[in-house]
Amino acid sequence: MGTSPADGTVMADLPLECPKCHGRMHVGYILERGHGDRRAAAAWIEGAPEKSFWQGLKTTGRQVFETRTWRCERCGLLESYARAEFVE
Ligand SMILES: [Zn+2]
Repeated sequence: MGTSPADGTVMADLPLECPKCHGRMHVGYILERGHGDRRAAAAWIEGAPEKSFWQGLKTTGRQVFETRTWRCERCGLLESYARAEFVE
């Protein structure tokens, strides 16, 4: 690893090894349950949370990134990334 160019299509700079215990990291996502128990990957929203009567939290006009979370199989450390390529 580490030989791919910065603009490579693979997510080469994302964690493959745990920064704490050097165990293997596996990609996943944090499950979020919306209306009617609809499942989705947790998203990162720009700015502070703003309450909306209808939607719980208002996200209109904000930048939204879907997140991916890596988990260490050894110590359980979670590391989340919200990257442009994860946009829904
Ligand atoms: Zn670990």
